[in-house]
Amino acid sequence: MEQKEDKLKEVISHAKEYGFVFPSSEIYDGLAATYDYGQLGSELKNNIKSYWWKSMVQMHENIVGIDSAIFMHPTTWKASGHVDAFNDPLIDNKDSKKRYRADVLLEEHMEKIRLKIEKEVEKGVKRFGDDFDEHQFRATNPNVLRNAEKIKEIEDRMRTALETNDLEGVYQLIMDCEIVCPISGSRNWTEVRQFNLMFSTELGSVAGDAATIYLRPETAQGIFVNFLNVQKSGRMKIPFGIAQIGKAFRNEIVARQFIFRMREFEQMEMQFFCRPGEEMKWYEYWKDTRSKWHKALGLGDNQYRFHDHIKLAHYANAACDIEFNFPMGFKELEGIHSRTDFDLKQHEQFSGKKLQYFDPELNQNYVPFVVETSVGLDRMFLAVLSASHKNEVLEDGSERTVLSIPPALAPYKVAVMPLTKKDGLPEKAREIIDGLKFDFLCQYDEKDSIGKRYRRQDAIGTPFSVTVDHETLENNTVTIRDRDTMDQVRVSIADLHRMIDEKVSMRTLLV
Ligand code: ATP
Repeated sequence: MEQKEDKLKEVISHAKEYGFVFPSSEIYDGLAATYDYGQLGSELKNNIKSYWWKSMVQMHENIVGIDSAIFMHPTTWKASGHVDAFNDPLIDNKDSKKRYRADVLLEEHMEKIRLKIEKEVEKGVKRFGDDFDEHQFRATNPNVLRNAEKIKEIEDRMRTALETNDLEGVYQLIMDCEIVCPISGSRNWTEVRQFNLMFSTELGSVAGDAATIYLRPETAQGIFVNFLNVQKSGRMKIPFGIAQIGKAFRNEIVARQFIFRMREFEQMEMQFFCRPGEEMKWYEYWKDTRSKWHKALGLGDNQYRFHDHIKLAHYANAACDIEFNFPMGFKELEGIHSRTDFDLKQHEQFSGKKLQYFDPELNQNYVPFVVETSVGLDRMFLAVLSASHKNEVLEDGSERTVLSIPPALAPYKVAVMPLTKKDGLPEKAREIIDGLKFDFLCQYDEKDSIGKRYRRQDAIGTPFSVTVDHETLENNTVTIRDRDTMDQVRVSIADLHRMIDEKVSMRTLLV
């Protein structure tokens, strides 16, 4: 556990030192759960967006993208259910005065029991060696069975209590599980209360209920209210999708863990409209497609897992998360939800406007069903950064910190360095940059020894470093160093563009 916390701390301090992420308004000691992306962070973030947009919008004939406003008519949020139901159950510990999400305390408790099961299985592997039959062991070992039963019981009670809004039941479950506050170690809990996560503000100069508007807590509703606008103006035929990337705001109860949980964050969402009855087919399709999108980054297939929701949101008939192995453990990275026709029907009802599609093949009007994919841009950023951050001991015993960011996402693609600051080498280096800068973000660096300059590029994840020396002036060749292998080869300047492009192009991820 401590090791994991150390890893997160290391990533946070690296992110700050090299200009990826800063605490917001830091000169005023920051603002809780709000962060700014620095000069390299915004490049990485833009590249992640571009990977998503290219894959979801530009490479799908039947998906288009929009950019809707953050503010929306307040009735939107009544129709969507957010005014009444976008709550988290919170609980305070009276001794530490710390606030927690009651459902998260229970999830973490169940995770601990799950770990006990895994330990038992590990013991089995050691004891039985090659003869070990994991399936049979899980089905028969009394300790495993007892713990699995415990988890099931907690899950069932939690689901029932949350679904029926039985807050006393949630409290009782926390007491029965003997869950203690991680800070004070005590079980001195307050009652469980519901807390609405939407930020509100007032429109214009009028105060009062009528003028209350919300900062959108998800980008999805901007898509639903534009469903017909896009369908008609784009002559879209079902099944089709509408995607968007944008800010969302949630007044999170527990906002820790760096950019994992922020009060202002960005989502990349896509709503896929399909025929009623075909939603499960598309749900499976998008689970598979999104999983491939993540795995193409090469951060390690075993870093991801699916988690089916116990408590389905008020709008869903199936939902799962793609979880990533963050420094804090496996946590939600993306949600895939089969939202039925809930949202469009609600908007029909609240607006009095028909939001239907005429299906020429069926010769029939209907309200489409929707499958949503929703991934947090900031969580993607943290996944890429934390999985890429490595401290390596090299063959000669020296150490380096390297960010092995997938090259297509790396902020700078190439650094060009003159060996010395004289003899026309800087001019030659700039000439090379002039030939590359239309397609690749380049950095010029002439300060310090070449070794130090390589380390700086490793630390910010630049896939290539090109060194210009005296030989360059004679025969137009340079050395190019690969960030990951640290191999250096001498190549002709004319070949640089192709070599770099082969490795850093988005195509490497999209095929
Ligand atoms: P969680 O259970 O972690 O609160 P959620 O299930 O409420 O997340 P969704 O409503 O499904 O999240 O939102 C879709 C995606 O938006 C999430 O998978 C996550 O990547 C991102 N996201 C949600 N809340 C935050 C937040 N506070 N900070 C950063 N990203 C977030």
